[in-house]
Amino acid sequence: MFTDTHAHLTYLSVYQNNPQALIEHLKHMNVNRVMAIMCHFDEFDGIKKWVELSNDDTHIGMSVGMHPCQDKSILQRVSIDDLLALNGDKTWAFGETGLDYYWDDTKKHEQKHSFATHIHASQIAKKPIIVHTRSAYHDTLDVLKSEKCEHGIIHCFTEDYAFAKTALDMGLYISFSGIVSFKKSVDLQEVAKKLPLDRILIETDSPYLAPVPKRGKENEPSFVPYVATALAGLFGKTAEQIGQITSQNFDNLLSQYH
Ligand SMILES: [Zn+2]
Repeated sequence: MFTDTHAHLTYLSVYQNNPQALIEHLKHMNVNRVMAIMCHFDEFDGIKKWVELSNDDTHIGMSVGMHPCQDKSILQRVSIDDLLALNGDKTWAFGETGLDYYWDDTKKHEQKHSFATHIHASQIAKKPIIVHTRSAYHDTLDVLKSEKCEHGIIHCFTEDYAFAKTALDMGLYISFSGIVSFKKSVDLQEVAKKLPLDRILIETDSPYLAPVPKRGKENEPSFVPYVATALAGLFGKTAEQIGQITSQNFDNLLSQYH
Protein backbone atom coordinates (compact mmCIF):
# COMPACT_ATOMS: atom_id res chain seq x y z
CA MET A 1 0.00 0.00 0.00
CA PHE A 2 1.09 3.55 -0.70
CA THR A 3 -0.06 6.98 0.48
CA ASP A 4 0.42 10.07 -1.68
CA THR A 5 0.41 12.88 0.88
CA HIS A 6 0.35 15.72 -1.66
CA ALA A 7 -1.50 15.90 -4.97
CA HIS A 8 -3.23 18.78 -6.76
CA LEU A 9 -6.04 16.69 -8.23
CA THR A 10 -7.94 19.62 -9.68
CA TYR A 11 -4.86 20.57 -11.78
CA LEU A 12 -4.55 17.19 -13.50
CA SER A 13 -5.38 17.71 -17.15
CA VAL A 14 -6.13 14.16 -18.22
CA TYR A 15 -8.61 12.96 -15.64
CA GLN A 16 -11.05 15.84 -15.12
CA ASN A 17 -13.59 14.31 -17.50
CA ASN A 18 -12.93 10.78 -16.40
CA PRO A 19 -11.92 10.80 -12.73
CA GLN A 20 -12.87 7.13 -12.39
CA ALA A 21 -9.90 6.25 -14.61
CA LEU A 22 -7.55 7.71 -12.00
CA ILE A 23 -9.29 5.76 -9.24
CA GLU A 24 -8.66 2.59 -11.26
CA HIS A 25 -4.98 3.48 -11.79
CA LEU A 26 -4.59 4.07 -8.08
CA LYS A 27 -6.03 0.67 -7.27
CA HIS A 28 -3.84 -0.99 -9.89
CA MET A 29 -0.71 0.63 -8.40
CA ASN A 30 -1.78 -0.18 -4.82
CA VAL A 31 -2.05 3.51 -3.87
CA ASN A 32 -4.86 3.41 -1.34
CA ARG A 33 -4.74 6.95 0.00
CA VAL A 34 -4.28 10.42 -1.47
CA MET A 35 -4.41 13.82 0.17
CA ALA A 36 -5.81 16.38 -2.28
CA ILE A 37 -4.14 19.72 -1.66
CA MET A 38 -5.82 23.11 -1.81
CA CYS A 39 -3.99 26.30 -2.89
CA HIS A 40 -6.98 28.64 -2.93
CA PHE A 41 -10.37 28.54 -1.17
CA ASP A 42 -12.04 28.65 -4.62
CA GLU A 43 -10.78 25.10 -5.20
CA PHE A 44 -12.94 23.71 -2.39
CA ASP A 45 -15.84 22.44 -4.53
CA GLY A 46 -13.58 20.91 -7.16
CA ILE A 47 -11.52 19.08 -4.55
CA LYS A 48 -14.66 17.95 -2.72
CA LYS A 49 -15.79 16.15 -5.90
CA TRP A 50 -12.57 14.15 -5.84
CA VAL A 51 -12.93 13.40 -2.12
CA GLU A 52 -16.42 12.03 -2.79
CA LEU A 53 -14.95 9.43 -5.13
CA SER A 54 -13.40 7.68 -2.12
CA ASN A 55 -14.24 4.01 -1.82
CA ASP A 56 -13.09 1.04 0.27
CA ASP A 57 -9.88 0.68 -1.77
CA THR A 58 -9.04 4.33 -2.26
CA HIS A 59 -9.33 7.02 0.38
CA ILE A 60 -9.13 10.64 -0.70
CA GLY A 61 -8.97 13.39 1.90
CA MET A 62 -8.17 17.06 1.54
CA SER A 63 -6.34 20.02 2.93
CA VAL A 64 -7.75 23.53 3.21
CA GLY A 65 -5.64 26.61 2.75
CA MET A 66 -4.12 29.42 0.70
CA HIS A 67 -0.78 28.93 -1.03
CA PRO A 68 1.89 31.58 -0.28
CA CYS A 69 2.07 32.45 -4.00
CA GLN A 70 -1.47 33.87 -3.96
CA ASP A 71 -1.86 37.65 -4.31
CA LYS A 72 -0.78 39.89 -1.47
CA SER A 73 -4.34 41.13 -0.93
CA ILE A 74 -5.60 37.57 -0.56
CA LEU A 75 -2.84 36.54 1.85
CA GLN A 76 -3.35 39.51 4.13
CA ARG A 77 -7.06 38.67 4.53
CA VAL A 78 -6.59 35.00 5.50
CA SER A 79 -8.28 34.48 8.87
CA ILE A 80 -8.57 31.67 11.38
CA ASP A 81 -12.38 31.79 11.05
CA ASP A 82 -12.25 31.35 7.26
CA LEU A 83 -9.91 28.39 7.59
CA LEU A 84 -11.94 26.73 10.33
CA ALA A 85 -15.16 27.25 8.33
CA LEU A 86 -13.74 24.91 5.67
CA ASN A 87 -12.63 22.29 8.19
CA GLY A 88 -14.73 19.12 7.88
CA ASP A 89 -14.27 15.43 8.65
CA LYS A 90 -12.56 14.86 5.28
CA THR A 91 -10.12 17.64 6.06
CA TRP A 92 -6.86 15.97 6.97
CA ALA A 93 -4.65 19.06 7.16
CA PHE A 94 -4.30 22.82 6.72
CA GLY A 95 -2.36 24.24 3.79
CA GLU A 96 -0.56 24.34 1.69
CA THR A 97 0.92 27.34 3.36
CA GLY A 98 4.45 28.50 4.09
CA LEU A 99 6.83 30.99 2.53
CA ASP A 100 8.01 31.39 -1.06
CA TYR A 101 10.43 34.23 -1.85
CA TYR A 102 11.57 32.67 -5.11
CA TRP A 103 8.83 34.04 -7.34
CA ASP A 104 8.09 37.25 -5.46
CA ASP A 105 9.81 38.65 -2.38
CA THR A 106 7.65 41.77 -2.08
CA LYS A 107 4.98 40.14 0.05
CA LYS A 108 7.00 38.56 2.85
CA HIS A 109 4.89 40.24 5.51
CA GLU A 110 1.61 38.95 4.03
CA GLN A 111 3.02 35.46 3.54
CA LYS A 112 4.13 35.35 7.18
CA HIS A 113 0.71 36.52 8.33
CA SER A 114 -1.02 33.82 6.30
CA PHE A 115 1.46 31.14 7.40
CA ALA A 116 1.06 31.98 11.10
CA THR A 117 -2.74 32.06 10.69
CA HIS A 118 -2.74 28.58 9.13
CA ILE A 119 -0.63 27.33 12.05
CA HIS A 120 -3.06 28.81 14.58
CA ALA A 121 -6.08 27.27 12.80
CA SER A 122 -4.32 23.90 12.67
CA GLN A 123 -3.58 24.08 16.37
CA ILE A 124 -7.22 24.83 17.19
CA ALA A 125 -8.47 22.04 14.90
CA LYS A 126 -5.70 19.68 16.10
CA LYS A 127 -4.76 18.76 12.55
CA PRO A 128 -1.39 18.95 10.83
CA ILE A 129 -0.14 21.75 8.64
CA ILE A 130 1.43 21.44 5.18
CA VAL A 131 4.48 23.63 4.77
CA HIS A 132 5.83 24.84 1.43
CA THR A 133 9.20 26.60 1.60
CA ARG A 134 11.25 28.03 -1.23
CA SER A 135 14.14 30.49 -0.96
CA ALA A 136 12.93 31.22 2.58
CA TYR A 137 15.01 28.84 4.70
CA HIS A 138 15.50 30.91 7.84
CA ASP A 139 12.17 32.71 7.86
CA THR A 140 10.28 29.41 7.50
CA LEU A 141 12.05 27.94 10.52
CA ASP A 142 11.59 31.20 12.44
CA VAL A 143 7.80 31.21 11.91
CA LEU A 144 7.50 27.51 12.77
CA LYS A 145 9.43 28.10 15.99
CA SER A 146 7.80 31.36 17.04
CA GLU A 147 4.30 29.94 16.47
CA LYS A 148 5.26 26.68 18.25
CA CYS A 149 4.25 24.50 15.31
CA GLU A 150 4.72 20.86 16.29
CA HIS A 151 2.34 19.05 13.98
CA GLY A 152 2.78 18.96 10.25
CA ILE A 153 4.65 18.14 7.07
CA ILE A 154 7.54 19.86 5.32
CA HIS A 155 6.32 19.06 1.83
CA CYS A 156 8.44 18.42 -1.28
CA PHE A 157 11.54 18.57 0.88
CA THR A 158 14.69 19.92 -0.81
CA GLU A 159 16.53 21.66 2.04
CA ASP A 160 19.63 20.47 3.93
CA TYR A 161 20.07 18.15 6.88
CA ALA A 162 20.15 20.98 9.44
CA PHE A 163 16.72 22.15 8.25
CA ALA A 164 15.33 18.61 8.41
CA LYS A 165 16.80 18.02 11.86
CA THR A 166 15.28 21.24 13.21
CA ALA A 167 11.86 20.33 11.79
CA LEU A 168 12.07 16.75 13.11
CA ASP A 169 13.04 17.99 16.57
CA MET A 170 9.90 20.15 16.56
CA GLY A 171 7.77 17.07 15.79
CA LEU A 172 7.25 17.64 12.06
CA TYR A 173 7.46 15.06 9.27
CA ILE A 174 9.54 15.30 6.09
CA SER A 175 7.86 14.47 2.77
CA PHE A 176 9.85 13.54 -0.36
CA SER A 177 8.61 14.06 -3.91
CA GLY A 178 9.90 12.77 -7.24
CA ILE A 179 12.86 15.15 -6.89
CA VAL A 180 14.57 12.54 -4.71
CA SER A 181 14.47 10.13 -7.68
CA PHE A 182 16.36 12.50 -10.02
CA LYS A 183 19.92 11.52 -10.82
CA LYS A 184 21.28 14.96 -10.01
CA SER A 185 19.65 15.07 -6.55
CA VAL A 186 22.72 13.59 -4.88
CA ASP A 187 22.77 16.04 -1.97
CA LEU A 188 19.08 15.46 -1.25
CA GLN A 189 19.58 11.70 -1.35
CA GLU A 190 22.42 12.04 1.16
CA VAL A 191 20.12 14.02 3.47
CA ALA A 192 17.29 11.49 3.09
CA LYS A 193 19.55 8.61 4.13
CA LYS A 194 20.26 10.27 7.46
CA LEU A 195 16.61 10.77 8.44
CA PRO A 196 14.71 8.43 10.75
CA LEU A 197 12.46 6.16 8.67
CA ASP A 198 9.54 6.66 11.03
CA ARG A 199 9.33 10.37 10.18
CA ILE A 200 9.37 10.24 6.39
CA LEU A 201 6.43 10.60 4.00
CA ILE A 202 6.13 10.36 0.22
CA GLU A 203 4.18 12.49 -2.23
CA THR A 204 3.87 13.22 -5.93
CA ASP A 205 3.02 16.95 -5.87
CA SER A 206 1.01 16.07 -9.01
CA PRO A 207 0.77 17.32 -11.69
CA TYR A 208 4.33 18.58 -11.23
CA LEU A 209 7.67 16.81 -10.78
CA ALA A 210 6.98 13.36 -12.21
CA PRO A 211 9.46 10.87 -10.73
CA VAL A 212 11.90 8.71 -12.67
CA PRO A 213 10.94 6.78 -14.86
CA LYS A 214 7.98 9.04 -15.71
CA ARG A 215 9.94 12.30 -16.07
CA GLY A 216 8.50 14.60 -18.69
CA LYS A 217 5.01 13.17 -18.31
CA GLU A 218 2.24 14.81 -16.33
CA ASN A 219 2.60 13.50 -12.82
CA GLU A 220 -0.31 11.75 -11.10
CA PRO A 221 -0.81 10.17 -7.65
CA SER A 222 -0.56 6.65 -9.05
CA PHE A 223 3.16 7.39 -9.63
CA VAL A 224 3.93 7.69 -5.90
CA PRO A 225 5.35 4.11 -5.74
CA TYR A 226 8.25 5.41 -7.89
CA VAL A 227 9.14 7.87 -5.14
CA ALA A 228 9.11 4.91 -2.74
CA THR A 229 11.42 3.05 -5.12
CA ALA A 230 13.94 5.91 -4.99
CA LEU A 231 13.91 5.90 -1.18
CA ALA A 232 14.02 2.10 -1.06
CA GLY A 233 17.42 2.17 -2.74
CA LEU A 234 18.73 4.59 -0.13
CA PHE A 235 17.42 2.65 2.86
CA GLY A 236 18.04 -0.91 1.68
CA LYS A 237 14.32 -1.68 1.70
CA THR A 238 11.82 -2.65 -0.95
CA ALA A 239 9.43 -0.07 -2.41
CA GLU A 240 6.56 -1.98 -0.78
CA GLN A 241 8.25 -1.70 2.62
CA ILE A 242 8.75 2.04 2.15
CA GLY A 243 5.09 2.26 1.13
CA GLN A 244 4.00 0.47 4.31
CA ILE A 245 6.28 2.48 6.59
CA THR A 246 5.32 5.86 5.12
CA SER A 247 1.61 4.94 5.23
CA GLN A 248 1.97 4.05 8.90
CA ASN A 249 3.79 7.36 9.45
CA PHE A 250 0.88 9.22 7.87
CA ASP A 251 -1.54 7.35 10.18
CA ASN A 252 0.60 8.41 13.12
CA LEU A 253 0.63 12.01 11.94
CA LEU A 254 -3.16 12.13 11.56
CA SER A 255 -3.75 10.56 14.98
CA GLN A 256 -1.05 12.57 16.77
CA TYR A 257 -3.58 14.51 18.81
CA HIS A 258 -6.14 11.79 19.41
ZN1 LIG B 1 1.74 21.59 -3.74
